[in-house]
Amino acid sequence: MLSSFQGDEVWGVAAEQGRRMIEVANQPPPLEDYNLLASDAALRDAIAREGAGSFENEIEDLGTRLGSAATIRAGFEANRNPPVLRAFDRYGSRVDEVEFHPAWHELMALAVGAGLHSNPWAAPKRGAHVARAAGTYMLAQVESGVYCPIAMTYGSVPALRHAPAVATEWLPRIFSRTYDPRSRPANEKASALIGMAMTENQGGSDLRANVTRAEPAGADGERRFYRLDGHKWFLSAPMCDAFLVLAQTAAGPTCFLVPRWTPDGRRNAIHIRRLKDKLGNRSNASSEVEFEGTHAELIGEEGRGIPTIIEMGNMTRLDCAIGSAGLMRQALAQAIHHASYRTAFQKRLVDHTLMTNVLADMALESAAATALALRLARAYDEDGEAAQAFRRVMTPAAKFWICKRAPAVAVEAIEVLGGNGYVEDFILARIYREAPVNSIWEGSGNVMCLDVIRALARAPNASAMLMDEVGDAAEPRLKSFVAMLLDTLGRAEESQARAVARDLVLTVQAALLVRHAPSVVADAFCASRLGGDPPAAFGTLPKGVDCHAIVARAAPARE
Ligand SMILES: Cc1cc2nc3c(=O)[nH]c(=O)nc-3n(C[C@H](O)[C@H](O)[C@H](O)COP(=O)(O)OP(=O)(O)OC[C@H]3O[C@@H](n4cnc5c(N)ncnc54)[C@H](O)[C@@H]3O)c2cc1C
Repeated sequence: MLSSFQGDEVWGVAAEQGRRMIEVANQPPPLEDYNLLASDAALRDAIAREGAGSFENEIEDLGTRLGSAATIRAGFEANRNPPVLRAFDRYGSRVDEVEFHPAWHELMALAVGAGLHSNPWAAPKRGAHVARAAGTYMLAQVESGVYCPIAMTYGSVPALRHAPAVATEWLPRIFSRTYDPRSRPANEKASALIGMAMTENQGGSDLRANVTRAEPAGADGERRFYRLDGHKWFLSAPMCDAFLVLAQTAAGPTCFLVPRWTPDGRRNAIHIRRLKDKLGNRSNASSEVEFEGTHAELIGEEGRGIPTIIEMGNMTRLDCAIGSAGLMRQALAQAIHHASYRTAFQKRLVDHTLMTNVLADMALESAAATALALRLARAYDEDGEAAQAFRRVMTPAAKFWICKRAPAVAVEAIEVLGGNGYVEDFILARIYREAPVNSIWEGSGNVMCLDVIRALARAPNASAMLMDEVGDAAEPRLKSFVAMLLDTLGRAEESQARAVARDLVLTVQAALLVRHAPSVVADAFCASRLGGDPPAAFGTLPKGVDCHAIVARAAPARE
């Protein structure tokens, strides 16, 4: 297909050394060597508001490193050179190793060095979960494959604490910030990372359908050992040092820690059948594995495996929402950056009013996702009933809605770049392929929404929680939207679960923006999101919205 621009005024032709050369013109400079925090007003405001102000210098430092040309290049290299399975050594012995490109290790070292995998547990402090959320939100903008083991390790801590003796042994390794990629017994290593294996071939959402069996194999004090036989259809980041695994005992689904090496220093029987050939998330390995008499240690009580491992799942659901908010932010930043440099029809794209409308609409989605992701992270910094109710209801709701919006923002951002957006040299193609996975893993959309209505039915204080969030926001559209929602809360039918989860999220997002964002942002969000179904395409903001101001606030300023 031809662009509407043809000819020498854009594709200037220069004579050089006797040859006609194409002169590159009307293309933006790469968006790199910029600070991912300093250039993101919505993130800066959210960090201060949600109690992580004391971490600002650390986050800013991480923002500089993540936004550097070198880190961005590492993200591209890690994805162009996906991991390779080496199931056997040259002599035919099983080794079940996965080899990664050096760029992957570079990015892992950066993330672990910043404590994104465990800092809020290692050094609990007001705002620690919010600060870490800001860090992972920025990480997702550069490379999402490494996000997976980082998120799973972060999530594993509350579940591991169900087995105090296991926690005593493993947590100091998990808390270490020295990335150690060697495949060695954990007690020989500087640090440890944790993965998760629940999903089986015959069923993922329905965990009670798991067929992997666990048989008792001895005890040492309060520690109880088992042997596992069965399989897992998905086990991501198989180079982790141990995995939380669900398997059946006589009492029902039970949670186990399965280390890659047995306590006596042998490779544990986690046999990798193959690596998945995935749509996105290509820098990261996701495997199918078999267990054959695999060494495992009990976490929590027999038969209570689902609630135990869901403690990990809750944290990783939070991370899916944060990660998708990060993907949206990067897609938006790329789109505004491109439109600020590229001209068409004698004007910068960003100055064409229809394009300004598209970008402003995307900016609203991104600002709302950022605000909610960090507000949700604050609920993990706080104790008390209100925080608990917020976590319980809003984690699956935010996971559903933010993850659903990310692919839509990615698609629109691609179109803003025109043909460039569809080319793998630009990060948007990768973001587009990445975005759907956050909706699927750690509980797919419907499963999240069913969880929301279950939580609402059991939480007598859900209405109070919502009213607390809305607080004194005197925005009439928000008030009538909340009144409508409160009317149905707690008695929603299963078939309406998606609508309820969406409306909960829109309420909390609108409340956050009305209370804390510039009025131009809040007004436009309420006008476009609270008056009926959110639009299927971006760029339909009503007349009177100051799109230019919204885009200016969201623009990623380069240093
Ligand atoms: C890249 C990738 C990496 C992964 N890594 C891991 C990993 O490391 N560890 C791990 O354990 N798993 C992992 N998974 C698996 C993932 O968690 C599951 O795919 C997911 O939970 C869905 O399970 P399923 O594939 O069995 O689909 P199903 O359970 O068959 O669900 C299919 C669809 O039906 C819907 N559905 C299910 N039940 C209901 C219901 N009651 N009402 C309405 N709709 C319903 C679901 O929402 C979904 O849309 C990974 C998946 C991917 C894509």
